[in-house]
Amino acid sequence: MSGLDALRFDNRFVDELPGDPEQGFRRREVRGALWSAVEPTPVAAPTLLAHSREVASLLGLDDADVASPAFANVFGGNALLSGMRPYAGNYGGHQFGNWAGQLGDGRAITLGEVVNAAGERLELQLKGAGPTPYSRTADGRAVLRSSIREFLCSEAMHHLGVPTTRALSLVGTGEAVVRDMFYDGHPNPEPGAVVCRVAPSFLRFGHYQLPASRGETDLLHTLVDFTIRRDFPHLSGEGEALYAAWFAEICERTAVMVAHWMRVGFVHGVMNTDNMSVLGLTIDYGPYGWIDNYDPDWTPNTTDAQGRRYRFGWQPRVAWWNLSRFAQALSPLFDGVEALQAGLQRFADVYARVDRETIAAKLGLADCRDDDVVRMETLQALLHQGEMDMTLFFRALMDADPADPADASLSAFDGVFYDPAKREDAMPGLRDWFDGYAARLAEEAQDPATRRERMRLANPRYVLRNYLAQQAIDAAEAGDLSGVHELLDVIRRPYDDQPGRERFAQKRPDWARQRAGCSMLSCSS
Ligand code: AMP
Ligand code: MG
Repeated sequence: MSGLDALRFDNRFVDELPGDPEQGFRRREVRGALWSAVEPTPVAAPTLLAHSREVASLLGLDDADVASPAFANVFGGNALLSGMRPYAGNYGGHQFGNWAGQLGDGRAITLGEVVNAAGERLELQLKGAGPTPYSRTADGRAVLRSSIREFLCSEAMHHLGVPTTRALSLVGTGEAVVRDMFYDGHPNPEPGAVVCRVAPSFLRFGHYQLPASRGETDLLHTLVDFTIRRDFPHLSGEGEALYAAWFAEICERTAVMVAHWMRVGFVHGVMNTDNMSVLGLTIDYGPYGWIDNYDPDWTPNTTDAQGRRYRFGWQPRVAWWNLSRFAQALSPLFDGVEALQAGLQRFADVYARVDRETIAAKLGLADCRDDDVVRMETLQALLHQGEMDMTLFFRALMDADPADPADASLSAFDGVFYDPAKREDAMPGLRDWFDGYAARLAEEAQDPATRRERMRLANPRYVLRNYLAQQAIDAAEAGDLSGVHELLDVIRRPYDDQPGRERFAQKRPDWARQRAGCSMLSCSS
C-alpha cells in the first residue's frame, strides 16, 4: 500500500459542525453554517514543482509517494483520496480596520484532517484549487509567483522557529491565471499553481467573528466548544472559566508569534482578522516581506501604501487590536468584560516578557535589564537612521569582539550599510553605542563563546530576502525550478554558516530596491 493510501482521515470539523446544505461553488451568503462542501476544480496538467520532505515525512510519505503521479493529481486538485471530505470554511473579518462581513475560503479548499502515526492532527488545505461559494468575484486560483512565496516562506519560518502553518507541496497547474498585479489596468496571464498547506487547524479569528456579527450565538458557542475540544484539549474547567483560559491562551500564543516576527524581521503585510490564526500560527502568506535596511515604518504591501497600517513596527499593536475585535466577538459567551480584558492583558504581559528575552538573546546578554530595553531602542534608532541591514548587523555584532582593537574600530560593521553618507552620519552614534555595549558585556561573567552561541540562535544568517525569492520566481516562470529548490535548502538551516552559500546572506542589491516583487507587492495573487 502506498503512503497516500495509508493516510488516515478523521474529519472532525465537517463531522461535528453544521454545514451548508447546498453543494458546489455557486457564490452565496452562507448563514447558520461553518462550512460548504466543495471539490477542487481539476487543472490541465498537474506537475509537482517542489515539496517539503519534512512535511511529507510528518504525514508518513516517502520520496516514492511524493514522486508518484497520484501525488501531483491529489495535490493539484484532480483527484481525491478515499476518506477526504473537501470543504471551504466560512468566516468574516476586519480588513484594514473595517468590518468586511462574510469572506470565507475563496480559494482555499480543505481536503481533510489527517491523524499521523504520532497521533498529531494535520489538516491538508489546497490554496488556489478553484472557486468556492466564498470566491465572490474572483477565480479561486493562485499564480505561481505567490504560490512559491507561500511555499518557501512558511517553511523558512518553521526552520527559524516561528510558529507557522507548513507547506507540503507546490504543484503547477499547466493553466494560465490572469492577474492585474498592481490594479492599474494591466492584466497579464501568468502560470498558475496550487500549494498544499498543512496545520493542525486553519481556524481564524474571523471564524468566530462572523457568527457573532450575525447574532448566531448558538453557532458561536458550538464552534468555541468544538475548538477547545479538538485543538485545546489540555485546557480544563468549564463554562466561563474555560472560555477565559482559552482566550488567554490565544492571546499568549499571538504575542509569542509576533515577538518572533519582530526578532527575525518579518512583515506579514495583511494582518486582517481573517488572517489571524487561533493557534497563534503565522497564516496566509501574501504580500509579506523581510526587513533589509532596518525601518519600522516599512511595509511591502502596496495595497496598504497610504496608511501603512501593517508596517513592521506596528505589528504588536495591530495584533492587540485584532485580539480586541476577537474579544468583542466572544463577548456573548461572557457575563462581564473582565475575563476578556484579562486575556488582552495577558497579551501585553507576554509580549513584554518575550520581547525582553529577545533583546537579551539578540544582544547576547544573560538577562535583560531595564537599561537593556533602552539600549535596544537606541540601537534600533541607529539602525534606522543609518540605513543598516538588520540581519547583517546582528550577525556582525555576534562576530565582533569588543575586547579586540580591530573590532572596536567598528570595521566589523562595514558591510551592513546601504548608503555611504548615512554611514558617515551614523558612525559617532554607533561608536557610543558599541562602547556602552562593550562596557555592559564586561559587567557579565559570561564567556565569549556562550554569548556568541546565544546570539547565533537568535539572529539568523539567512532569511528569505524579498529579492532572493523573486530571483527564484523569475527562473521558475522560465521553467527552471532549481532556484526554488536551492532556497528551500538554504532556509533549512538559517542560523548556520553555510560555506559556499554566502550569496544568500548578502545585502539587497541596488536594482532590487524599487522592483516589483522585491520591495513592492500587492494583495493580487
Ligand atoms: P487575503 O487578503 O488574501 O487573505 O484574502 C481575503 C479574501 O479574499 C479571502 O476570503 C480570500 O479567500 C479571498 N480571495 C483572495 N484571492 C482570491 C481569489 N483569487 N479567488 C477567490 N477568492 C480570493
Ligand atoms: Mg486570507
